Amino acid sequence: MAVQRTLVLLKPDAVQRGLVGTILTRFEQKGLKLVAMKLRHFPASTFEKHYEPHKAKPFYPGLVKYMSSSPVVALALEGVDAIEVVRGMMGATNSRKAAPGTIRGDLGMSFSNNLVHGSDSPESAASELANFFGDAGEVCNWTPVSTPWIYNVAEELA
Ligand code: UDP
Ligand code: MG
Repeated sequence: MAVQRTLVLLKPDAVQRGLVGTILTRFEQKGLKLVAMKLRHFPASTFEKHYEPHKAKPFYPGLVKYMSSSPVVALALEGVDAIEVVRGMMGATNSRKAAPGTIRGDLGMSFSNNLVHGSDSPESAASELANFFGDAGEVCNWTPVSTPWIYNVAEELA
């Protein structure tokens, strides 16, 4: 159990379909803390770096093209075990196979256009957050007044 930060991307299909609010609401309602957010039409180079681990895969060129085709919303979310919590909320990569109740399972029909990205490990979270929120002052350290109602502070945030 550890407080973590994770990078979430609301992909071009989420922005184009008007699902930014719907998806952000899910994370807010879960109790994850929003610590950074930006909407940008990022250049291909941002996603070449972001998807570097997939560089050898056949879908890599199409993935970079899709991600840089339209604006994306980048979020930094914080919470206890936030990386695993967000991955669970996203659902399986193929939206057609993602479980109902997950973001992809409820809102998508595609393998590639699957609405959302979430970091998959502490190491990838660190490098992905630096890629999207590397400049000073972009991440906001704050304490929501709801914190002691979302967590048992003595047991979970000590
Ligand atoms: N992707 C794809 N075809 C594939 C596998 C992945 O288009 O066969 C895309 C899809 O958008 C996915 C992203 O590449 O979200 C990164 O793949 P990964 O296996 O890391 O899935 P994720 O972690 O996003 O669930
Ligand atoms: Mg991945």
